[in-house]
Amino acid sequence: MQPLRVVVAGGGIGGLAAAALLARTGHDVTLLERAGSLRAVGAGIALQPNGLAVADALGIVDRIAAQGSWQHGLALHDGRGRALANVAVPSAAAPLGAALVVPRQVLHDALADVAAAAGAAVTTGIEVADLAQDGDSVTVSVEPGATRIRADLLVAADGARSLIRARLSVGTKDTPGPVYLRALVPMSCPDELAGEHWGPCGLAGLVPCGRGRTYWFASSTEDIRDAVASGRVTAVRTSVSAAHPVLSGAVQGLRDVRDLLVNQVHSVHTSSFVDGRVVLLGDAAHAMPPNLGQGANSALLDAAVLALELADADVLADALARYDGGRRPAVRRVQRDSERLAGLAHWRHGRRLRDLAVRTTSAAVGPRAARAAFQVDVVGLRDDLRELIGPGGRPAGRPS
Ligand SMILES: Cc1cc2nc3c(=O)[nH]c(=O)nc-3n(C[C@H](O)[C@H](O)[C@H](O)COP(=O)(O)OP(=O)(O)OC[C@H]3O[C@@H](n4cnc5c(N)ncnc54)[C@H](O)[C@@H]3O)c2cc1C
Repeated sequence: MQPLRVVVAGGGIGGLAAAALLARTGHDVTLLERAGSLRAVGAGIALQPNGLAVADALGIVDRIAAQGSWQHGLALHDGRGRALANVAVPSAAAPLGAALVVPRQVLHDALADVAAAAGAAVTTGIEVADLAQDGDSVTVSVEPGATRIRADLLVAADGARSLIRARLSVGTKDTPGPVYLRALVPMSCPDELAGEHWGPCGLAGLVPCGRGRTYWFASSTEDIRDAVASGRVTAVRTSVSAAHPVLSGAVQGLRDVRDLLVNQVHSVHTSSFVDGRVVLLGDAAHAMPPNLGQGANSALLDAAVLALELADADVLADALARYDGGRRPAVRRVQRDSERLAGLAHWRHGRRLRDLAVRTTSAAVGPRAARAAFQVDVVGLRDDLRELIGPGGRPAGRPS
């Protein structure tokens, strides 16, 4: 397809990856981010082999790995710290046989640099406020300034509460879930505590995140939310330790409440990822509970599949239809599994029975579920992307 004028709304992991890949394939890309900077508040992210396949094709794995920690599996514990399961990352040639836990900012910076180097124009402090479509183009209204930008394609990567999605006819169902806390603290993660812990107050976890840092995350309780609202870090430390004793060491590393990432989880389902010349990507298309660690990884896959489909098709509508037809059912299965796992992790009554069930079934379902969560053949995807964007990759063709 000949180069398209593409507006990407949202500078999160999904938007940055889309901008990087579409610019690398010759499209004229403008990325608009509402926040004043491309800053990811202090927390980590686990890149699974599917997300790593995209990062590897973009040539950023060595750069981000220098600041992160490789994980070969995830240990799951009950509320008393006893082992429930150990979900191993399925083996594959490096770097696709492990997960990489990195500070979010490290991944953001690497993707933003690739996007800029490929010629994408990245602007912060600009919100996409509205859009209008005719047969030939989509016109985006941005604030401040009430400026209008005409494009061939709008990539809506504006997150779970997507304003753009609300303007489309895509039959959205948005179910709010628990509020999670996440933070990155400058202390080593004790080996015996690493992994997830399913206790009476929900889920708590901690993993090494490179350079002596620990990434911790936890479901919130009312006490925790009150403590966060008070802005007092001592109150947050006390309430988190009370709800999740396994975090009582890690939470001492929190210096300021502003270093916490506090998010309500959303499960977003739509009847289509495409409406005319607008395509939904990442959480805007399919926000899901974090329990399989697949939200951002799926956003990276979306960006990769979109770039591949645009390169393969002669007609934009065909490329978008193939993107929707491929990505929506694949990610729907992962959403369903994440939602099921989230329900198990927050089980209130009969936890002993749950723990017994997890212990006895995890050996059978663990690795299979992990591989299914990747949604694609990770090596095949990485190689297809390398062929597309590497030296000698196919140039973008003609538009229609
Ligand atoms: C506790 C927790 C742990 C998680 N752990 C993992 C993990 O380990 N691995 C994983 O893969 N996923 C994980 N996730 C999920 C992951 O964080 C998300 O799926 C991912 O960040 C989604 O990226 P995105 O780019 O689609 O959206 P976002 O990160 O939400 O980015 C959207 C961007 O769009 C901008 N924006 C919004 N509206 C507009 C507008 N109108 N105009 C312009 N800009 C706009 C926003 O400012 C934002 O920068 C976790 C989630 C939680 C809650």
